[in-house]
Amino acid sequence: LPRLPVFEAIKTHDSKSTAVIHSLSGRTFTYGELINDVAAAKNKLQKNTKGKSVAGERIAFLVENGYDYVVTLLSILASHAIAVPLSPTFPAHELRYILDQSASLMLLSSEKFQDKAGEVLKEGMETTPINYKQEKIMMGRTDDYVTLDDPTSDQGGMMLYTSGTTSRPKGVLLPQSVLTAQSMSLLKAWNYSSKDHLLHILPLHHIHGTVNALLTPLFRGSTIEFQFPFNANAVWERLAAPFLPNPDSSKRPITFLTAVPTIYTRLLSSHPTLSPDLRSATKTALKPGNLRLNISGSAALPTSVKSAWTELSCGNVLLERYGMTEVGMALSCGLSFSDRVDGSVGWPLPSVEARLVDTETGDVIPEGGELDHEGRERHGEIQLRGPTIFKEYWRNEEATKKEFVEGEDGRGKWFKTGDVAVRREVNGAGKGNQEWCRGKMYFIQGRKSADIIKTGGEKVSALEIEREMLSLPQVSEVAVVALPSEAWGQKVAAVVVLSEAGKTAGRGGKAWGALDMRRALKDLLANYKIPQEMRVVESIQRNAMGKINKKQLVREIWGEALD
Ligand code: ATP
Repeated sequence: LPRLPVFEAIKTHDSKSTAVIHSLSGRTFTYGELINDVAAAKNKLQKNTKGKSVAGERIAFLVENGYDYVVTLLSILASHAIAVPLSPTFPAHELRYILDQSASLMLLSSEKFQDKAGEVLKEGMETTPINYKQEKIMMGRTDDYVTLDDPTSDQGGMMLYTSGTTSRPKGVLLPQSVLTAQSMSLLKAWNYSSKDHLLHILPLHHIHGTVNALLTPLFRGSTIEFQFPFNANAVWERLAAPFLPNPDSSKRPITFLTAVPTIYTRLLSSHPTLSPDLRSATKTALKPGNLRLNISGSAALPTSVKSAWTELSCGNVLLERYGMTEVGMALSCGLSFSDRVDGSVGWPLPSVEARLVDTETGDVIPEGGELDHEGRERHGEIQLRGPTIFKEYWRNEEATKKEFVEGEDGRGKWFKTGDVAVRREVNGAGKGNQEWCRGKMYFIQGRKSADIIKTGGEKVSALEIEREMLSLPQVSEVAVVALPSEAWGQKVAAVVVLSEAGKTAGRGGKAWGALDMRRALKDLLANYKIPQEMRVVESIQRNAMGKINKKQLVREIWGEALD
């Protein structure tokens, strides 16, 4: 495949083939329409900047999942600008931070999100409608932002905000060359085909939803059917439609499904509630001959979920892979069922170089050196390099510097993922016909920092939540921790020391409680970041450096309940 930017690649597809479908309304859009609409939207974008080039500028957008999102994203890329997709589920407070930090030149929004966009734009700013084919997209100009004289990336690209070990989300800059490299690697590994029909049920401000489930299939000319927000019954109904006793002839079988473990868990628990006809049709839909590929990632896939899915689907084993906003997909199990080993995330994907750096000694663990002198497995941080890896956090040199380490061989820097893994030989695996699936397999063991929480596939920074909670007058001290959760992988919990005011701030003069906390955080944090549990304590123990041992704290407070 030629290494083209995605907006060029789509011009090589059959213009009559279907690019996008809106699952609920049944509306379809061909590649020919998409190419025309992207060109028209690009012109409109340019006109609204009075002819000034937008190359290298950040353009934020709040557009719902579907055709308009695709047109918006591709037209920004075709303008060589940097697309900053925003989540409509974020409160205005968080969106404003992203707009400010990215210094976005403008904000595009669907009519549906006009109110939210209005809240986010600063007072006195104008909005101009630009009509796409689908609906009116409003453009809010954020003119008081400074245009860079020397844009970091004049080839354009995408910027996603990710939480980590800093208290504020960081902008991960993914230039078009990196996006193309990520898609090329996945095309090779997972064999996307123009005949693939993918059901898209993921949010579109994450690498999983944007690169794996949108850009990569667009590169190949596959069909992407959007169904959002996720609803387990609607997914089952769609999967079943072509296989019902009276099939809906307008619905083609879904051949490709990618989701996070929480979604598979929800699908599994809603399945028994379906009617017998639906249940039987969904089982046919999931068979390996119909659903070509079903992938899980963004968080560890519990073995119980994997085996329940295998049973329901007559042996269609979920393929697990590992990725991160900064690197796209890095490790993956293979297409052959024997290369999908329980608990493993497989091998480095094509064009990705991976290594493990011993978390105790700091040495690179060589091939064959996976056991220490006492025969114990050596745990190592996953470090990565190659053309799929991002280059910088937007306007955050310090963080960029911290997360990369120079390679001893002079062949470039390694990115430190903060995830810890072991490598193991697995009997029977690595013998299929995919060349990159060879040698020892990677098994993720957890994260280096207790401050990174993954809940329902969303990455959350404990420090960010602590910062917002400390801004509340009722809170004097707080530690945000992760608790294991069957449904969410992990859930966010807070241990709080109340301020004097907090002791009587609850209803009827009672102490401030969990419900009060949720209410107070509603406008400050996205819903999934708000602690699901809160415990009030007299004091939180800290070491001489003022740090809290969060693992110990969790054990002290929830110890018995966790067992
Ligand atoms: P992805 O789907 O690749 O995780 P994302 O947008 O959810 O994309 P981030 O929010 O940056 O990515 O989260 C990345 C983190 O998710 C990784 O650093 C790792 O801790 C965790 N993760 C991703 N996939 C897996 C997996 N298969 N097993 C365990 N942890 C995973």
